Parts: sequence; C-alpha cells; structure tokens
Amino acid sequence: MLLNLFTLNNYNNQPVFGYRLPKRSFNDIRDIPGLTCAKCGEKMFSLIERDEFINKLLAGSKTCLKNHEFDEFRNSNRFRFLQNLANRHPRTPLAVIVEDKTIKYKISKFGGFGQREVSEIVDISKNITKNAPQVIKKLMPLKERMPDAYKELLDYMEVYAIKYPDNSFSEIFKKKDVFDYHNKIRLFRKEQFSLLKNKALTKLNKTAELLPQEEKAKMIKLNSELLNIISPTYYPDSTKHIMLELLYGDFISALDDKKLAANIKKQLKNIPLNEVHADNLIVGYSKLNDREIIKEILENVSATFEHIIPGSKDGPDSKHNGICLCKRCNQERATIAYSVMMEKFPEFSQNIQKQLNKVMAFIKNKKLTGYELYPQKVKKTLLDVTDQKLRINIKKFLKFKEKEAEIKLEHAKASYIQNKTRLQETNLEISEYNKKIDELKQELKRLQDEKNILHHKKEIRKAKVNNSTRILANAKSNLKSARKTLNNDK
Ligand SMILES: [Zn+2]
Repeated sequence: MLLNLFTLNNYNNQPVFGYRLPKRSFNDIRDIPGLTCAKCGEKMFSLIERDEFINKLLAGSKTCLKNHEFDEFRNSNRFRFLQNLANRHPRTPLAVIVEDKTIKYKISKFGGFGQREVSEIVDISKNITKNAPQVIKKLMPLKERMPDAYKELLDYMEVYAIKYPDNSFSEIFKKKDVFDYHNKIRLFRKEQFSLLKNKALTKLNKTAELLPQEEKAKMIKLNSELLNIISPTYYPDSTKHIMLELLYGDFISALDDKKLAANIKKQLKNIPLNEVHADNLIVGYSKLNDREIIKEILENVSATFEHIIPGSKDGPDSKHNGICLCKRCNQERATIAYSVMMEKFPEFSQNIQKQLNKVMAFIKNKKLTGYELYPQKVKKTLLDVTDQKLRINIKKFLKFKEKEAEIKLEHAKASYIQNKTRLQETNLEISEYNKKIDELKQELKRLQDEKNILHHKKEIRKAKVNNSTRILANAKSNLKSARKTLNNDK
C-alpha cells in the first residue's frame, strides 16, 4: 500500500532537447526539476524535490509512534487506531498511510475533534525521520557540494550515527553531552577568532605606521573597512578573500615599497575570516526537529534567485534580472561584480549557458510560462553588467522563435483565407435570403391588396344591403300609411 506523496514517476520518458520533461508546467525557474546552478553547474533541489527528499527519509510509522513527542496522545482511541494501522504497515510513514482512500473515509467518521487530533499526530510524524545511520547515508553524497562548515557538520554526523545508531539526529543533538561538547568548542573558537582578528588588525595598523603620511591614512581607513568584510557570518572564506583583494588591490599595487606590499598581502592572506563552524550549527540544531535539520542542510544545494544587478544597486526584482544559484554559490557570489566572477570562476559563463539551455528547452516545450522573453532579456542584462563580455548563445532559441512566429503567421494566413471563403459563402447565403424575403414581401403586399379589395367590396355590399333595407322599410311604412288612409276613407 505504499503511496508515494511526491514521486518522480510524473516524468514521461520521452527525451526532448536532451531533457526529460515533466508533464506539468511551471511558472518559476526555481521549480524546474534538476536545474543546474549557474555558478557551480551542479544540480539543485527545487522546493518540491527538497520536500520529496525529506519525505523519503520519514520514519516508518511503528517506530515513529514510539517517539516521546506523542506521549500526550497515548491514551486516546484515535492514537490507538493509528497504532493499529502502524502495526499493519510498520515501515510506511504515517503521512502516507492516512492518504489511503479507505482509511481517509474511516477518519472522516471520527467527527471534528477526532479528525483534528489525527491530523495533529500526522503533522508531528512528518517532522520525525528515520534514525541517524539511514539519514546520513542519503546526505553524504551531497557533502562535496556543501560549504566548509557543513562538510565538517556531515563528518560529525557520520561519527554520531555510528555512536548512536538508534536515535534520529534531533535526538542526538539534544543529548546533553553532545550539546555541551560542541558548545564548549563553539565558545572557544569564538574567543580565539576574536583574539586572532584583533591581533591581525593591530599588526596591519602597525604596518601602516611604516608608510608615508598620506598612504598611512589610506591604509588605516582600509583596515577599518576590512571589518565589514570579516564580520558577516554568511559570506564564505573564499568570498571574503576576493573581497579583501578588491578592497586593498589598488592600494597595494600603487605602493613603491614592493617588499612592504608583499608583506601586507601575506598578512591579509592569513587573516581569520569566519567564526562559524559545524559546532555553531550543531548548537543551533539542538532546538530543531529532524525535518528542520535536514531542510537546513539541503538549503545549501537548493535553488535560489540571484539578482544579477543587486537590490542595493537598484537592480529590479523582475525575473529578467535573475538567474538561479544554489544557496552556497549565492552566498559565495555575495556582491562581487560579474566581471570579477568571470575572472575568478572561469566555468561561470559556461554554467550560466548550461542553465539557460535547460530553461530554453522548457520554454520551447511550453513547460515554463511567463518566461517567453527571458532568454533575450537576461542576455542583455548579463552583457550590460560585464561590459559586453559575458556572451550567452541563444541563437537556436531565437531561430526557434522565428520559426514559431513563421508557423503562427502561416496559420493566421490560412485561417484568413478560410475565413474569407466562409465570408463569401455567407454573403451569398444572405443575398439569397434577401431575395426570398423580397419575394415574400411582394406576396404579402399582393395578399394585402386583395384583402383591401375584398374589404372594399364588402363595404359596398354592406351599404347596398343597408340601402335596400331602408327602401324596404320606407316602402313598408308607405304601404302601412296608404292602408291606413284607405281604411279611413271607407
Ligand atoms: Zn552552485
């Protein structure tokens, strides 16, 4: 009775333009299944794919219902009903079991309160995953694509999965000894980071003292700006290195003292950049449930919208000002200009092209709506931000559009001709009807005339009858008076 809530079976097997296209269509590029990141070129998770991934890791119903999260429900009949189902389908997640038609019907008979209780229990069950060994097995293949702190996190998780094989990760991270251990390291690293940072900054300021007055002031100003780069925790080290290079670049290359310039460069290279490590993550995760923990980890490889011209530089929020990056790459990109990105990451333009190819295939096959002008417009945006350097090839797509337009024109022409013929036919029909109407009108007129004549005749006859009646009456009256006179004379 395994019912998969979200399966990949929706995909038809027919490869079109080299991609397996889904049956449904989308209206956001982030939802395109298997879209590759425009920077690293790796496949990203869409929201649906991410949930699908987590749903496959949900605990089997029998184990799940043993969790202490359900303690408050244990005495209820509804809970026992679910427990019975779980005994029959121990490995199927509860959320899947209750999707069955017959079971749904049974639950609908529980009344309002009972139904709410069941859905509450099911909701809680969606946050409980299988135990650590099964979960880490699915997460490990993603390790290489994770930011450094998360790589370290997965290594820890692998060790914990061996140490506590009968627990899920939220249970492990809540364990007192685990929490205390990582919290201690976190605090130690925080202190160490702050110490090293201050030391490095003092050293940089001391180096500034060796410079002539004007350059010294410049460098001290740069040193204070440096803090704006190191402090945010969301930029990875690699990004911070690029940012520092950009910040100090012109200043260092303008220095006459090349030895000192090299010294500053070396100092910048060794500056501590991040205080966030796996220990910070684990301490934070002690407050989360299993689903939330996995979601947080998967976020790094999930599709995010990347503003080509950042909002801080008045970049519009429109889709034409965006490409898709995995969250890790989006954080790496930070606010670095695209021209610099092209230089630092040579595969960048190639990966943008790879992403756009898939997007164009989806548009061509009507699987992505509202993006008909996207390729042309995003190409223009990319050219604009890179001094015409980032060239994207959309020729095939434009040719396709041209062909599509030609076909549409042909269709329009054909339907015009067809309509014209139909119009002529209709006109002919109308004139025939008009003719018939005229004939009928004439007939009507003739009948009316006839009727009028008859009417007239009737009137004349009527008058004649009246006249005769009068004459007769007069005659009768004359006769009567003649008789009267005659009698009197007798
Ligand atoms: Zn990426």
